[in-house]
Amino acid sequence: MQVQHQIGADIMFAFDELTTLQNSRGYQEESLERTRLWALRCIDEHFRLTTERVGKPYQALFGVIQGAQYEDLRRKACRDLGAMDFDGYGIGGALEKENLGTIVRWCNEELPENKPRHLLGISEPDDIFTAIENGADTFDCVSPTRVARNSAFYTPAGRFNLSGAKYKRDFGPLQDGCDCYACANYSRAYIHHLFKAKEMLSATLISIHNERFVVKMVDDTRLAIEAGTFFEFKAETLAQYYR
Ligand SMILES: [Zn+2]
Repeated sequence: MQVQHQIGADIMFAFDELTTLQNSRGYQEESLERTRLWALRCIDEHFRLTTERVGKPYQALFGVIQGAQYEDLRRKACRDLGAMDFDGYGIGGALEKENLGTIVRWCNEELPENKPRHLLGISEPDDIFTAIENGADTFDCVSPTRVARNSAFYTPAGRFNLSGAKYKRDFGPLQDGCDCYACANYSRAYIHHLFKAKEMLSATLISIHNERFVVKMVDDTRLAIEAGTFFEFKAETLAQYYR
């Protein structure tokens, strides 16, 4: 908490233990109790430091919900931390794709409705829709930058790899119509060349594009929710992406 206050983080996450799906049920219970006690200590220290920070921007503190694949543990964690004075909640843990939606739904049925719910560590398009559908408001993931280091870029028609020889003389942008810096200024051919020459700039440019792609997709999803067309938008977007 002290380090987070010193670096001025806008949103801090309370200390938690990330278990794996292989840990025993008994270990998950012990671990959950440890995370609950850490949450209390984080809140105490955060409030103590906040009162010393008069006149500086407010920093938000989110509690982290663990409990692995166990419904009773997830719901208990949400009730325990939901009763604490957090600004929002992060749903954490090693989640399997098949039960991602179910676990996010259990948590969001228990967590306070007036506080943001963040899902830690996802970003593939189908996971984002699953999370949104089950009540998650925000997300984070290293995926757009991690795949960019291997020259993979997102488009509405799916994910492609720029290392292929067919991009050598492809002078179009990564994605037609994209408004990001990389697409406005550089061609596929040039970024392909940078990747082949092992220039770090290729990963930087593709990361800028991939981040923009994900943010735009979530912006469009918000518009679809407001227009009452979420399920149509989801079906169309995923059909095009995973065709
Ligand atoms: Zn772009």
